[in-house]
Amino acid sequence: MNNKEIIDLDSKYIIQNYGRQPIALSHGEGVIIWDTDGKQYIDFFAGLAVNVLGQSHPKVIKTIQKQAEKLIHVSNVYYTEEQVKLAKKLSEISIFDRVFYANSGAEANEGAIKLARKFTGKGEIISANNSFHGRTLATVTATGQDKYKEPFKPLPTGFMHVPFGDSKAISNAINDDTAAILIEAIQGEGGVVVPPENYLKEVESICKENNVILILDEIQTGFGRIGEMFAYELYGIKPDIITIAKALGNGYPIGGVLARGEVATAFDFGDHGTTFGGNALGCAVAMTVIETIKEENLLENSKTVGEYFKDKLYKLKEKHDFIKDVRGFGLFLALELDQNSSDITDKMLKKGFLINSTAGNVLRFVPPLIIKKDHVDKLIKALDNLFFEI
Ligand SMILES: *Cc1c(COP(=O)(O)O)cnc(C)c1O
Repeated sequence: MNNKEIIDLDSKYIIQNYGRQPIALSHGEGVIIWDTDGKQYIDFFAGLAVNVLGQSHPKVIKTIQKQAEKLIHVSNVYYTEEQVKLAKKLSEISIFDRVFYANSGAEANEGAIKLARKFTGKGEIISANNSFHGRTLATVTATGQDKYKEPFKPLPTGFMHVPFGDSKAISNAINDDTAAILIEAIQGEGGVVVPPENYLKEVESICKENNVILILDEIQTGFGRIGEMFAYELYGIKPDIITIAKALGNGYPIGGVLARGEVATAFDFGDHGTTFGGNALGCAVAMTVIETIKEENLLENSKTVGEYFKDKLYKLKEKHDFIKDVRGFGLFLALELDQNSSDITDKMLKKGFLINSTAGNVLRFVPPLIIKKDHVDKLIKALDNLFFEI
């Protein structure tokens, strides 16, 4: 099928909740992806900050093939070696003791909210304005953007919001019923918004003083995106819980709640669960993703190519007045414009680049962590040419 045939069928048979780019993708290799008309793209989107190893990575292919021949899924009624090996690995690469496996980011956040409520016996979750935590009813309520929740009222109770980057607002909001602070280290969907330098450290101590659980939503920042394995390392803090998903499975759906200390033991048998979460195939793939990040030095690549990339973005800003800001760390980068960014994304698509527009006026760059400087050069040149046409 070609692009048009696929798009026609989509409009007829699929619930129309996505505003998609007008192409159907067919296959990819590394950071190159082809559509069904045969056009080639360089991928600066990575399936929404998911495909850290790019498309059709040989190690991922091999793991999926080998594991599919052995065991795909058995439910959480039984133990599997793949689950415990990945759990041990996650603990070794982080400060956390235990994991609960989920299938997606939203489910990971749901699990974290339930864990914090069970542990504290309290109800209220404080999150930030402009945040994004998922689309389920609880996580969309935690999300600090009205457009995502207005049509779906009534919403669950026990959620409140404070301005992002203002630690005083958090101490003022904490009360006797506060269970947890749920916060992104860097707001992704909200426009790659980086908080003031000491903000997360201050939030950490406020949580400690008040016996409030700190949940860091690392669904977008985790696994090398920001140049470290996790964003809590970048900011030198120790949250009680982090939630992970996106990059963990390189496209195979798997997420998780990582918790440390006593909070990690708050669930009793039967308190929480999922049918698919942590299935053998997902865990095998995630193990390969983590090992490959190490083996291929991708944290280093995220840092060095990220710095190179950011420097080029600053140079673009010097040339083009309508660029208001350059933000981000590692390969989690953005340009804020003084105008709508989605038409730029559309034009870049025609030029053969997959980039993303978010928060109305922000161009977000979240390529696979295997991306090279010469891919960045190509993107910058195309952006520069396009910006001169505007
Ligand atoms: C993507 C994202 C989510 C939601 O993940 P899903 O897998 O789409 O449910 C939650 N929090 C953050 C920070 C995200 O970037």
